[in-house]
Amino acid sequence: MATDYDAPRKTEDDSESIEALKERVPDKLSGTVGDEDADNPTGFELPGADLSDLELDVVVLPPQEDEFTCIECFLVKHRTQIDHEGAAGAVCIECAA
Ligand SMILES: [Zn+2]
Repeated sequence: MATDYDAPRKTEDDSESIEALKERVPDKLSGTVGDEDADNPTGFELPGADLSDLELDVVVLPPQEDEFTCIECFLVKHRTQIDHEGAAGAVCIECAA
């Protein structure tokens, strides 16, 4: 008897956790804070520090070390695209042309 309901229960648990992961990833990427609030109306077990960390991850996209933000077109480009760098920042090849 005990083994009877132990087997199907295990499979159910497996698929459930996978689906939960699938749902969480796009949620985090899109950064829809409103959705998260609806998901956890009470917000229990979710400290504020953790939430602000998530927000920062989504909203702030700092250029990588090999990237720069052009001061003319405000696009993040690879450093190989720098035409010249001034006091205000770097200008990409396209804007300098
Ligand atoms: Zn540019």
